Amino acid sequence: MDQWQKEDSKICLHSEENSEEYFGAITPPIYQTSLFSFRDWDKFLEGITSEREHFVYTRGVNPTTKILEDKLALLERGEKCKCFSSGMAAISATIFTLVKKGDHILFANNIYGPALSYAKVLEKFGVEYSSVFIEDSVELKAHIKKNTKLIYIESPSTMNFDILDLSKVSEIAKSRNILTAIDNTCATPIYQKPITQGIDIVLHSCTKYIAGHSDTLGGAVISSYKIIDEIFEIGHQFGGAVMGPIDAWLTIRGLRTLRQRLEYQRSSVEKIINMLKNNPKVNKINHPLLFEGNKKKIYEKQTTGYTSLLSVEIDFQNYDELRSFMNAFKVFKLGVSWGGFESLVTSPNYDSKENLRDLEGRHISSNLIRIYIGLEDTECLLEDLENAFETLNK
Ligand code: PLP
Repeated sequence: MDQWQKEDSKICLHSEENSEEYFGAITPPIYQTSLFSFRDWDKFLEGITSEREHFVYTRGVNPTTKILEDKLALLERGEKCKCFSSGMAAISATIFTLVKKGDHILFANNIYGPALSYAKVLEKFGVEYSSVFIEDSVELKAHIKKNTKLIYIESPSTMNFDILDLSKVSEIAKSRNILTAIDNTCATPIYQKPITQGIDIVLHSCTKYIAGHSDTLGGAVISSYKIIDEIFEIGHQFGGAVMGPIDAWLTIRGLRTLRQRLEYQRSSVEKIINMLKNNPKVNKINHPLLFEGNKKKIYEKQTTGYTSLLSVEIDFQNYDELRSFMNAFKVFKLGVSWGGFESLVTSPNYDSKENLRDLEGRHISSNLIRIYIGLEDTECLLEDLENAFETLNK
Protein backbone atom coordinates (compact mmCIF):
# COMPACT_ATOMS: atom_id res chain seq x y z
CA MET A 1 0.00 0.00 0.00
CA ASP A 2 2.87 2.34 0.84
CA GLN A 3 4.33 1.57 -2.56
CA TRP A 4 0.98 2.53 -4.11
CA GLN A 5 1.24 5.98 -2.54
CA LYS A 6 4.62 6.65 -4.11
CA GLU A 7 3.55 5.41 -7.51
CA ASP A 8 0.24 7.28 -7.39
CA SER A 9 1.98 10.52 -6.52
CA LYS A 10 4.22 10.16 -9.59
CA ILE A 11 1.25 9.25 -11.82
CA CYS A 12 -0.80 12.27 -10.68
CA LEU A 13 2.09 14.70 -11.13
CA HIS A 14 4.30 13.51 -13.98
CA SER A 15 3.56 10.20 -15.68
CA GLU A 16 2.64 10.10 -19.36
CA GLU A 17 3.73 13.74 -19.82
CA ASN A 18 6.82 14.55 -21.82
CA SER A 19 7.70 18.23 -21.67
CA GLU A 20 10.58 17.75 -24.14
CA GLU A 21 7.97 17.07 -26.79
CA TYR A 22 6.40 20.44 -26.13
CA PHE A 23 9.35 22.85 -25.81
CA GLY A 24 9.94 22.15 -22.11
CA ALA A 25 6.48 23.44 -21.17
CA ILE A 26 5.80 22.04 -17.70
CA THR A 27 2.15 21.37 -18.53
CA PRO A 28 1.02 19.66 -21.74
CA PRO A 29 -0.63 21.62 -24.53
CA ILE A 30 -4.37 21.57 -25.09
CA TYR A 31 -4.64 20.04 -28.55
CA GLN A 32 -7.77 21.99 -29.40
CA THR A 33 -8.34 20.54 -32.84
CA SER A 34 -11.12 18.54 -34.42
CA LEU A 35 -8.88 16.67 -36.88
CA PHE A 36 -5.25 15.74 -37.59
CA SER A 37 -3.82 16.14 -41.10
CA PHE A 38 -1.38 13.88 -42.97
CA ARG A 39 1.17 14.76 -45.68
CA ASP A 40 1.40 11.22 -46.92
CA TRP A 41 -1.51 9.11 -48.28
CA ASP A 42 -0.14 5.83 -46.88
CA LYS A 43 0.15 7.35 -43.41
CA PHE A 44 -3.40 8.68 -43.76
CA LEU A 45 -4.61 5.18 -44.69
CA GLU A 46 -2.77 3.68 -41.72
CA GLY A 47 -4.51 6.18 -39.42
CA ILE A 48 -7.99 5.98 -40.86
CA THR A 49 -8.02 2.18 -40.83
CA SER A 50 -7.03 1.94 -37.15
CA GLU A 51 -8.31 5.10 -35.55
CA ARG A 52 -7.95 3.65 -32.07
CA GLU A 53 -4.17 3.73 -32.35
CA HIS A 54 -3.75 7.03 -34.24
CA PHE A 55 -4.63 10.69 -33.95
CA VAL A 56 -7.10 11.11 -36.82
CA TYR A 57 -10.16 12.89 -35.46
CA THR A 58 -10.83 14.14 -31.92
CA ARG A 59 -14.05 12.10 -31.75
CA GLY A 60 -11.65 9.13 -31.60
CA VAL A 61 -8.34 9.85 -29.87
CA ASN A 62 -6.83 13.23 -28.93
CA PRO A 63 -3.29 13.68 -27.50
CA THR A 64 -4.39 15.75 -24.48
CA THR A 65 -7.19 13.34 -23.60
CA LYS A 66 -4.83 10.39 -24.12
CA ILE A 67 -2.48 11.72 -21.42
CA LEU A 68 -5.40 11.66 -18.98
CA GLU A 69 -6.52 8.21 -20.14
CA ASP A 70 -3.04 6.77 -19.67
CA LYS A 71 -2.74 8.30 -16.20
CA LEU A 72 -6.13 6.92 -15.09
CA ALA A 73 -5.30 3.44 -16.40
CA LEU A 74 -2.06 3.52 -14.37
CA LEU A 75 -3.82 4.84 -11.24
CA GLU A 76 -6.41 2.05 -11.36
CA ARG A 77 -3.74 -0.57 -12.23
CA GLY A 78 -5.77 -1.40 -15.34
CA GLU A 79 -4.53 -1.96 -18.86
CA LYS A 80 -6.38 0.80 -20.67
CA CYS A 81 -8.81 3.69 -20.14
CA LYS A 82 -11.25 5.59 -22.31
CA CYS A 83 -12.58 8.98 -21.27
CA PHE A 84 -16.03 10.39 -22.01
CA SER A 85 -17.83 13.72 -21.79
CA SER A 86 -19.40 12.78 -18.43
CA GLY A 87 -19.58 9.95 -15.93
CA MET A 88 -23.03 9.03 -17.22
CA ALA A 89 -21.67 8.86 -20.78
CA ALA A 90 -19.00 6.39 -19.61
CA ILE A 91 -21.63 4.30 -17.79
CA SER A 92 -24.13 4.17 -20.68
CA ALA A 93 -21.43 3.51 -23.33
CA THR A 94 -20.04 0.64 -21.24
CA ILE A 95 -23.40 -1.02 -20.62
CA PHE A 96 -24.52 -0.45 -24.22
CA THR A 97 -21.35 -2.11 -25.52
CA LEU A 98 -21.37 -5.13 -23.25
CA VAL A 99 -24.96 -6.35 -23.29
CA LYS A 100 -27.18 -7.66 -26.05
CA LYS A 101 -30.80 -8.75 -26.44
CA GLY A 102 -31.66 -11.49 -23.93
CA ASP A 103 -28.87 -10.58 -21.47
CA HIS A 104 -29.53 -9.77 -17.85
CA ILE A 105 -27.77 -7.09 -15.76
CA LEU A 106 -27.68 -7.51 -11.99
CA PHE A 107 -27.42 -4.25 -10.03
CA ALA A 108 -26.61 -4.69 -6.35
CA ASN A 109 -27.51 -2.17 -3.65
CA ASN A 110 -27.87 1.55 -4.11
CA ILE A 111 -26.29 2.65 -7.32
CA TYR A 112 -26.34 6.03 -9.05
CA GLY A 113 -30.04 6.49 -10.00
CA PRO A 114 -29.63 7.37 -13.71
CA ALA A 115 -27.53 4.21 -14.29
CA LEU A 116 -30.52 2.16 -13.20
CA SER A 117 -32.89 4.31 -15.27
CA TYR A 118 -30.65 3.68 -18.28
CA ALA A 119 -31.03 -0.09 -17.79
CA LYS A 120 -34.79 0.43 -17.76
CA VAL A 121 -34.54 2.12 -21.17
CA LEU A 122 -32.65 -0.91 -22.50
CA GLU A 123 -35.66 -3.13 -21.71
CA LYS A 124 -37.16 -2.00 -25.03
CA PHE A 125 -34.19 -3.69 -26.74
CA GLY A 126 -34.81 -6.95 -24.85
CA VAL A 127 -32.21 -6.45 -22.11
CA GLU A 128 -33.36 -7.51 -18.63
CA TYR A 129 -32.18 -6.16 -15.33
CA SER A 130 -32.80 -6.57 -11.64
CA SER A 131 -31.86 -4.35 -8.76
CA VAL A 132 -31.32 -6.16 -5.47
CA PHE A 133 -30.39 -5.16 -1.94
CA ILE A 134 -28.02 -7.45 -0.09
CA GLU A 135 -26.06 -7.38 3.18
CA ASP A 136 -23.39 -9.89 2.24
CA SER A 137 -21.81 -10.37 -1.19
CA VAL A 138 -22.52 -14.12 -0.99
CA GLU A 139 -26.24 -13.29 -1.33
CA LEU A 140 -25.51 -12.27 -4.93
CA LYS A 141 -25.51 -15.96 -5.89
CA ALA A 142 -29.25 -16.21 -5.27
CA HIS A 143 -29.97 -13.40 -7.74
CA ILE A 144 -27.79 -14.54 -10.62
CA LYS A 145 -29.79 -15.81 -13.60
CA LYS A 146 -28.77 -18.09 -16.44
CA ASN A 147 -28.51 -15.05 -18.73
CA THR A 148 -26.71 -12.70 -16.31
CA LYS A 149 -23.97 -11.02 -18.31
CA LEU A 150 -22.94 -8.19 -16.01
CA ILE A 151 -22.92 -7.52 -12.27
CA TYR A 152 -22.87 -3.78 -11.66
CA ILE A 153 -22.08 -2.36 -8.23
CA GLU A 154 -21.18 0.88 -6.48
CA SER A 155 -19.08 0.46 -3.35
CA PRO A 156 -19.24 2.59 -1.32
CA SER A 157 -22.54 3.85 -2.68
CA THR A 158 -23.15 7.56 -2.41
CA MET A 159 -26.43 7.76 -0.50
CA ASN A 160 -26.39 4.95 2.07
CA PHE A 161 -22.66 4.09 1.84
CA ASP A 162 -23.28 0.36 1.41
CA ILE A 163 -20.20 -1.69 0.61
CA LEU A 164 -19.61 -5.09 -0.92
CA ASP A 165 -16.62 -7.40 -0.64
CA LEU A 166 -15.02 -6.80 -4.04
CA SER A 167 -12.89 -9.94 -4.20
CA LYS A 168 -15.90 -12.05 -3.20
CA VAL A 169 -18.08 -10.40 -5.88
CA SER A 170 -15.36 -11.05 -8.43
CA GLU A 171 -14.95 -14.69 -7.36
CA ILE A 172 -18.70 -15.36 -7.62
CA ALA A 173 -18.91 -13.70 -11.04
CA LYS A 174 -15.76 -15.26 -12.52
CA SER A 175 -16.85 -18.78 -11.64
CA ARG A 176 -19.97 -18.17 -13.75
CA ASN A 177 -18.31 -16.24 -16.59
CA ILE A 178 -20.06 -12.99 -15.66
CA LEU A 179 -18.42 -9.57 -16.06
CA THR A 180 -18.20 -7.22 -13.07
CA ALA A 181 -18.31 -3.41 -13.18
CA ILE A 182 -17.97 -0.96 -10.31
CA ASP A 183 -18.63 2.75 -10.03
CA ASN A 184 -15.54 3.76 -8.04
CA THR A 185 -16.24 7.49 -8.00
CA CYS A 186 -16.79 7.75 -4.25
CA ALA A 187 -13.61 6.00 -3.08
CA THR A 188 -11.44 7.51 -5.88
CA PRO A 189 -8.60 5.60 -7.57
CA ILE A 190 -6.31 6.78 -4.77
CA TYR A 191 -8.13 4.88 -2.02
CA GLN A 192 -9.59 1.91 -3.89
CA LYS A 193 -8.26 -0.05 -6.87
CA PRO A 194 -10.99 -2.60 -7.67
CA ILE A 195 -9.06 -4.22 -10.56
CA THR A 196 -6.50 -5.41 -8.01
CA GLN A 197 -9.43 -7.15 -6.23
CA GLY A 198 -10.48 -8.96 -9.41
CA ILE A 199 -13.19 -6.58 -10.67
CA ASP A 200 -13.20 -6.34 -14.50
CA ILE A 201 -14.36 -2.80 -15.20
CA VAL A 202 -13.99 0.43 -13.22
CA LEU A 203 -16.10 3.52 -13.92
CA HIS A 204 -15.58 7.07 -12.75
CA SER A 205 -17.36 10.35 -12.88
CA CYS A 206 -14.24 12.54 -13.27
CA THR A 207 -16.57 15.48 -12.62
CA LYS A 208 -16.19 14.69 -8.91
CA TYR A 209 -12.92 14.37 -6.92
CA ILE A 210 -10.67 13.63 -9.89
CA ALA A 211 -11.17 16.98 -11.66
CA GLY A 212 -12.02 18.41 -8.26
CA HIS A 213 -12.86 22.05 -9.00
CA SER A 214 -16.50 21.95 -10.16
CA ASP A 215 -15.54 23.51 -13.48
CA THR A 216 -15.69 20.56 -15.86
CA LEU A 217 -17.56 17.31 -16.56
CA GLY A 218 -15.97 14.00 -17.44
CA GLY A 219 -16.14 10.24 -17.19
CA ALA A 220 -13.79 7.30 -17.55
CA VAL A 221 -13.86 3.54 -17.92
CA ILE A 222 -10.80 1.43 -17.13
CA SER A 223 -10.39 -2.26 -17.91
CA SER A 224 -8.42 -4.72 -20.07
CA TYR A 225 -7.24 -3.82 -23.59
CA LYS A 226 -9.89 -6.15 -25.00
CA ILE A 227 -12.84 -4.61 -23.15
CA ILE A 228 -11.76 -0.99 -23.63
CA ASP A 229 -11.15 -1.53 -27.35
CA GLU A 230 -14.67 -2.91 -27.65
CA ILE A 231 -16.11 0.05 -25.71
CA PHE A 232 -14.11 2.41 -27.94
CA GLU A 233 -15.45 0.88 -31.15
CA ILE A 234 -19.09 0.75 -30.04
CA GLY A 235 -20.09 2.89 -27.06
CA HIS A 236 -17.56 5.65 -27.65
CA GLN A 237 -17.52 5.91 -31.42
CA PHE A 238 -21.27 5.56 -31.95
CA GLY A 239 -22.39 7.46 -28.85
CA GLY A 240 -19.95 10.25 -29.69
CA ALA A 241 -19.87 11.53 -26.10
CA VAL A 242 -16.25 12.64 -26.37
CA MET A 243 -14.29 14.37 -23.63
CA GLY A 244 -13.11 17.68 -25.08
CA PRO A 245 -9.36 18.50 -24.95
CA ILE A 246 -9.92 21.46 -22.60
CA ASP A 247 -11.90 19.29 -20.20
CA ALA A 248 -9.16 16.65 -20.34
CA TRP A 249 -6.56 19.32 -19.55
CA LEU A 250 -8.60 20.62 -16.60
CA THR A 251 -8.93 17.05 -15.33
CA ILE A 252 -5.16 16.48 -15.66
CA ARG A 253 -4.70 19.66 -13.60
CA GLY A 254 -7.19 18.42 -11.01
CA LEU A 255 -5.41 15.07 -10.71
CA ARG A 256 -2.16 16.80 -9.69
CA THR A 257 -3.62 17.77 -6.31
CA LEU A 258 -6.04 14.89 -5.80
CA ARG A 259 -4.06 13.21 -3.01
CA GLN A 260 -3.47 16.43 -1.10
CA ARG A 261 -7.09 17.56 -1.39
CA LEU A 262 -8.30 14.19 -0.15
CA GLU A 263 -5.95 14.29 2.83
CA TYR A 264 -7.20 17.72 3.95
CA GLN A 265 -10.82 16.68 3.44
CA ARG A 266 -10.20 13.51 5.41
CA SER A 267 -9.12 15.46 8.47
CA SER A 268 -12.12 17.78 8.06
CA VAL A 269 -14.69 15.02 7.74
CA GLU A 270 -13.38 13.38 10.91
CA LYS A 271 -14.09 16.57 12.91
CA ILE A 272 -17.51 17.00 11.32
CA ILE A 273 -18.47 13.41 12.13
CA ASN A 274 -17.35 13.86 15.74
CA MET A 275 -19.66 16.84 16.05
CA LEU A 276 -22.58 15.02 14.39
CA LYS A 277 -22.13 11.98 16.65
CA ASN A 278 -22.91 14.13 19.67
CA ASN A 279 -25.96 15.81 18.17
CA PRO A 280 -29.25 14.39 19.60
CA LYS A 281 -31.11 15.29 16.38
CA VAL A 282 -28.91 12.94 14.33
CA ASN A 283 -30.38 9.43 14.16
CA LYS A 284 -27.78 7.84 11.92
CA ILE A 285 -24.53 8.76 10.19
CA ASN A 286 -23.53 6.89 7.04
CA HIS A 287 -19.78 7.05 6.47
CA PRO A 288 -16.98 4.42 6.33
CA LEU A 289 -15.31 5.99 9.38
CA LEU A 290 -18.15 4.58 11.50
CA PHE A 291 -18.20 1.07 10.03
CA GLU A 292 -18.01 -1.70 12.61
CA GLY A 293 -17.49 -5.48 12.67
CA ASN A 294 -17.38 -7.33 9.36
CA LYS A 295 -18.15 -4.19 7.35
CA LYS A 296 -15.11 -2.47 8.84
CA LYS A 297 -12.97 -5.54 8.14
CA ILE A 298 -14.03 -5.64 4.48
CA TYR A 299 -13.54 -1.89 4.06
CA GLU A 300 -10.05 -1.98 5.51
CA LYS A 301 -9.12 -4.96 3.35
CA GLN A 302 -9.99 -3.25 0.08
CA THR A 303 -9.85 0.50 0.73
CA THR A 304 -6.91 2.53 2.03
CA GLY A 305 -8.69 5.71 3.12
CA TYR A 306 -12.02 7.48 3.25
CA THR A 307 -13.38 10.49 1.43
CA SER A 308 -15.50 13.42 2.55
CA LEU A 309 -18.99 12.52 1.36
CA LEU A 310 -21.45 11.34 4.01
CA SER A 311 -25.13 11.20 4.72
CA VAL A 312 -27.07 11.67 7.94
CA GLU A 313 -30.59 10.79 8.95
CA ILE A 314 -32.01 13.67 10.95
CA ASP A 315 -34.94 13.66 13.32
CA PHE A 316 -37.13 16.01 11.21
CA GLN A 317 -40.71 16.11 12.51
CA ASN A 318 -42.09 17.30 9.19
CA TYR A 319 -41.10 18.65 5.79
CA ASP A 320 -41.08 22.27 7.02
CA GLU A 321 -38.28 21.36 9.43
CA LEU A 322 -36.28 19.90 6.56
CA ARG A 323 -36.87 23.05 4.51
CA SER A 324 -35.81 25.41 7.36
CA PHE A 325 -32.72 23.28 7.97
CA MET A 326 -31.67 23.49 4.32
CA ASN A 327 -32.36 27.22 4.15
CA ALA A 328 -30.15 27.96 7.17
CA PHE A 329 -26.80 27.22 5.51
CA LYS A 330 -24.50 30.12 4.70
CA VAL A 331 -21.19 28.39 3.94
CA PHE A 332 -22.47 25.07 2.57
CA LYS A 333 -24.22 25.56 -0.76
CA LEU A 334 -27.38 23.72 -1.78
CA GLY A 335 -26.64 21.75 -4.91
CA VAL A 336 -26.21 18.46 -6.69
CA SER A 337 -22.88 16.76 -7.33
CA TRP A 338 -19.84 16.73 -5.03
CA GLY A 339 -16.05 16.36 -5.22
CA GLY A 340 -15.27 20.01 -5.92
CA PHE A 341 -13.79 22.75 -3.70
CA GLU A 342 -17.14 23.84 -2.27
CA SER A 343 -19.05 22.14 0.52
CA LEU A 344 -22.57 21.07 -0.40
CA VAL A 345 -25.75 19.80 1.18
CA THR A 346 -28.71 18.22 -0.49
CA SER A 347 -31.68 16.02 0.29
CA PRO A 348 -33.20 13.33 -1.95
CA ASN A 349 -36.63 14.22 -0.49
CA TYR A 350 -38.55 16.52 -2.87
CA ASP A 351 -41.83 15.97 -1.02
CA SER A 352 -43.84 14.47 -3.87
CA LYS A 353 -45.67 11.15 -3.66
CA GLU A 354 -43.77 9.75 -6.63
CA ASN A 355 -40.41 10.82 -5.19
CA LEU A 356 -41.15 9.30 -1.77
CA ARG A 357 -42.20 6.02 -3.40
CA ASP A 358 -38.97 6.01 -5.39
CA LEU A 359 -36.89 6.61 -2.23
CA GLU A 360 -38.63 3.74 -0.47
CA GLY A 361 -37.85 1.43 -3.39
CA ARG A 362 -34.22 2.46 -3.25
CA HIS A 363 -34.01 1.99 0.54
CA ILE A 364 -33.22 5.68 1.08
CA SER A 365 -34.65 7.45 4.13
CA SER A 366 -36.79 10.54 3.45
CA ASN A 367 -35.00 12.21 6.38
CA LEU A 368 -31.60 11.77 4.74
CA ILE A 369 -29.34 14.76 4.15
CA ARG A 370 -26.24 14.26 2.06
CA ILE A 371 -23.27 16.36 3.09
CA TYR A 372 -20.13 16.94 1.06
CA ILE A 373 -17.17 18.44 2.89
CA GLY A 374 -15.12 20.59 0.54
CA LEU A 375 -11.98 22.62 1.10
CA GLU A 376 -13.29 25.46 3.30
CA ASP A 377 -11.92 25.99 6.79
CA THR A 378 -13.31 23.20 8.98
CA GLU A 379 -14.31 25.56 11.82
CA CYS A 380 -16.49 27.58 9.42
CA LEU A 381 -18.21 24.38 8.29
CA LEU A 382 -18.79 23.23 11.87
CA GLU A 383 -20.35 26.59 12.78
CA ASP A 384 -22.56 26.52 9.70
CA LEU A 385 -23.82 23.02 10.49
CA GLU A 386 -24.45 23.90 14.15
CA ASN A 387 -26.38 26.93 13.01
CA ALA A 388 -28.59 24.76 10.75
CA PHE A 389 -29.29 22.35 13.64
CA GLU A 390 -30.37 25.36 15.75
CA THR A 391 -33.41 25.75 13.47
CA LEU A 392 -34.67 22.40 14.82
CA ASN A 393 -34.72 23.73 18.39
CA LYS A 394 -37.01 26.66 17.61
N1 PLP B 1 -21.57 8.01 -10.49
C1 PLP B 1 -21.83 8.64 -9.34
C2 PLP B 1 -21.61 7.91 -8.06
C3 PLP B 1 -22.33 9.95 -9.34
O1 PLP B 1 -22.60 10.54 -8.17
C4 PLP B 1 -22.53 10.60 -10.58
C5 PLP B 1 -23.05 11.97 -10.63
O2 PLP B 1 -23.54 12.54 -9.69
C6 PLP B 1 -22.26 9.89 -11.76
C7 PLP B 1 -21.77 8.61 -11.67
C8 PLP B 1 -22.49 10.52 -13.09
O3 PLP B 1 -21.45 11.39 -13.39
P1 PLP B 1 -21.62 12.69 -14.29
O4 PLP B 1 -22.44 13.66 -13.49
O5 PLP B 1 -20.23 13.12 -14.54
O6 PLP B 1 -22.32 12.28 -15.53
